[in-house]
Amino acid sequence: MSDLLSRRKFLASAAVGVAATRARDIPFPMRPPRPLPPQSRWAAKPVAVSSANGLRAVQKAFDMLLQGADTLDAVIEGVKIQELDPNDDSVGYGGLPNADGVVQLDASCMHGPTKRAGAVGALEGIKTPSEVAKLVLKYTNHIFLVGEGAKRFALQYGFREEDLLTEHSREVWLHWRANLNPDDDYLDVPEAQHMTVRPTGTINCDAVTPQGDISSVTTTSGLAFKIPGRVGDSPIIGAGQYTDNDIGAAGSTGRGESNIKVCGGFLTVELMRRGLKPTDACLETLKRVIQITEPRLLGPDGKPKFNLNFYAVNKRGEFGAASLYPGSYAAHDGREAKLRDMASLYERPAASR
Ligand code: ASP
Repeated sequence: MSDLLSRRKFLASAAVGVAATRARDIPFPMRPPRPLPPQSRWAAKPVAVSSANGLRAVQKAFDMLLQGADTLDAVIEGVKIQELDPNDDSVGYGGLPNADGVVQLDASCMHGPTKRAGAVGALEGIKTPSEVAKLVLKYTNHIFLVGEGAKRFALQYGFREEDLLTEHSREVWLHWRANLNPDDDYLDVPEAQHMTVRPTGTINCDAVTPQGDISSVTTTSGLAFKIPGRVGDSPIIGAGQYTDNDIGAAGSTGRGESNIKVCGGFLTVELMRRGLKPTDACLETLKRVIQITEPRLLGPDGKPKFNLNFYAVNKRGEFGAASLYPGSYAAHDGREAKLRDMASLYERPAASR
């Protein structure tokens, strides 16, 4: 393809960042890495896109694509960096807990080449729910395991049960609980000690291999201080992410309840099927979200009081993202992994998320 960078540049770019991933480094691989065809026979421009917290994820996923890794293995290994990072309080280990102080994680994934899907919801005690979702996809006749059953399933495959609260996330939760009700028996924490908390966060990653194979994954600790048992959009196939190997993939972060109602991952892929470019498809999905938004979620200016983001790639390796309010997303386009501006429906930042 004429618009592809030279193979030398691609390989140079791949060498930057993480070290080469060997087959044995990938737990439960979909398949071992295999040599790429000559670049003249590449069907697509390889690419990895992610939410803004996924700069390292897209670098890792892209490196693996150029080492001939499977598309799903690449995106899962990418998002695992964030899941294992105690400083990302929106995903995996260190994610903010539910109202009871328990971290409950959601994740889902789809693998274009095999047309399979896997998901886990309200999973406790396991740092990398994206990997467990991949195991559901790979080893079971089911798609979605939740709660205790999902945990038992993970333990059977050798995952270790761990305390997912970090010192920081426990402190943030105790602070939230203390200030919840001025009349309860917990003394309010003075405003001076106010902590900045992001109420939402998640990572979605979508990738296209040089052969045009596509996968997507979304993983999250969900809304901070949610009602125990709540699952958001991230583990719902067709909402948090969706892949059709003939068309493309899409995923989402932000207010999950608003995405679930439009099946945003699926809708965005369907819009690409009808010919829309990835960014335009994401914008159309957001318009549908607005059409179906309850008045209580709109501010006096009629604009949503929350934010929602969509990310998309198509079969050719074109990619894009859009949000209700301006923001950025991460992409590796073959040259470099960097943050880019998203298209947005509205101009000003969200009054509140
Ligand atoms: N979509 C996630 C959820 O609703 C949260 C987020 O992305 O911020 O659980």
